[in-house]
Amino acid sequence: MIDIEQRALGLAPAGVLVGGRWTSADAAFAVLDPATEQTLREVPDCSNEDALRALDAACAAQQTWAATPPRRRADILRAAYDALVARTDDFALLATLEMGKPLAEARAEVAYAADFLRWFSEETPRIHGRYAVLPNADARMLTMRMPVGPCLLITPWNFPIAMAARKIAPAIAAGCTMLVKPAEQTPLSTLALARLLEEAGLPAGVLNVLTTTKPEQMVPALLRDGRIRKLSFTGSTAVGRILMSQAAGTVARVSLELGGNAPFLVFDDADLDAAVDGAVLAKMRNTGEACTAANRFHVAAGVAEEFAQRLAARLAAMPVGRGTEPGVEVGPLIDGAARDKVEQLTGDALERGARLLTGGKALPGKGFFFEPTVLSGVAPGAAMLHEEIFGPVAPVLPFAGEEEAILAANDTEYGLVAYVYTRDLQRAMRVSERLDTGMVGLNRGIVSNAAAPFGGVKQSGIGREGGAEGIDDYLSTKYVAIAV
Ligand code: ADP
Repeated sequence: MIDIEQRALGLAPAGVLVGGRWTSADAAFAVLDPATEQTLREVPDCSNEDALRALDAACAAQQTWAATPPRRRADILRAAYDALVARTDDFALLATLEMGKPLAEARAEVAYAADFLRWFSEETPRIHGRYAVLPNADARMLTMRMPVGPCLLITPWNFPIAMAARKIAPAIAAGCTMLVKPAEQTPLSTLALARLLEEAGLPAGVLNVLTTTKPEQMVPALLRDGRIRKLSFTGSTAVGRILMSQAAGTVARVSLELGGNAPFLVFDDADLDAAVDGAVLAKMRNTGEACTAANRFHVAAGVAEEFAQRLAARLAAMPVGRGTEPGVEVGPLIDGAARDKVEQLTGDALERGARLLTGGKALPGKGFFFEPTVLSGVAPGAAMLHEEIFGPVAPVLPFAGEEEAILAANDTEYGLVAYVYTRDLQRAMRVSERLDTGMVGLNRGIVSNAAAPFGGVKQSGIGREGGAEGIDDYLSTKYVAIAV
């Protein structure tokens, strides 16, 4: 096993990628395995000067890259897709080692990441403008879709390969150069992906990767410089607010994929078997560490107790352990802070009178493990109903009718996704229309797909990633007025 792990870790080159060269920095920091708390590897801790050098490289490459034939850009993405699929097992193991998720889920993440490379390779040759006769016929209008320019892409640790691919692929498709800053917990997957894109033929300077423990210093320095024309960020709403205000200084375009507080609604006409299956997926995918994770289960009063009991039985049967072990379905949380937050939210709900149906505790010993947990009778004031839990804890609450369910679902500053289980078509449409979210899972516990527009409303974000919309955030429209 150790040999396989070493090989997977070796996918990430030593150093960071700046202007086509893998370089070191004056300092380094450790990347830990959250299941063992042991150091896996060290990566460079880049300074602001390193970052500005990477920005120089991205700017130097921008014009040539924008002029590179779309077919060539598409072919690079397609070659990277083929290479990533061929190396699924190694990439999956690398993600499991640094992030903790079970191997089967890591393989699914690699497939999801690869899908973005393929999808945007298919979109690259289809970037079209418009031509029109202006209404008074004295001029013509032409629109051109231009790459927005050098981009700064900041990614989170929960899907380290897929979140990087979801930003890098449309930037490549659109003809933008970029700086990528992965989360400090999981930089290895991104470094490995950068290497793979390099091998697929991506020219020097188009993609630069920086790792740092001081993003709060590096990112404002990059944005102040003025040459970054777009910031794309996936992470917490708190950091998203800060970045949005920093981007305002140079009016850089922003795309934000922020936190969620997804309601999972089960109506009394729902197929309860399907609802429980969907709930397990929506709650436990990635050990609950997903912005799309179902955060609260609102269930029709007549079926709430049965639903909670069945969900508890399913979660109680899920093996917890290091993601590399066969049969493990629940990995560790990313770090001690994440585990402590889940523990504190659970304690708060119990103090307010919730009933524990299964789980409830952090596991002793090494690794940031928390038991899959189901709570019923959670009081409306409990913090876990209003904050992102980001862990394997499911609060179940009863509702009396459709109107009450919709009001409860929308009672949050977030608006990323909602899940709805009902067999009544009219109700499904009615409820979907009234939910204040960017996405709805209808009788389905997962929505993510490279071909669909992922994103939120309210304080869950701005912009869409994936789908036909995904490339728009990396293009700006130039209008040419033509005299005739
Ligand atoms: P989480 O709390 O789940 O770790 P964060 O929003 O803190 O989510 O992190 C998401 C990404 O944002 C990571 O790449 C992290 O390094 C980066 N980040 C965190 N704080 C800042 C900041 N002040 N400025 C810029 N980037 C930041």
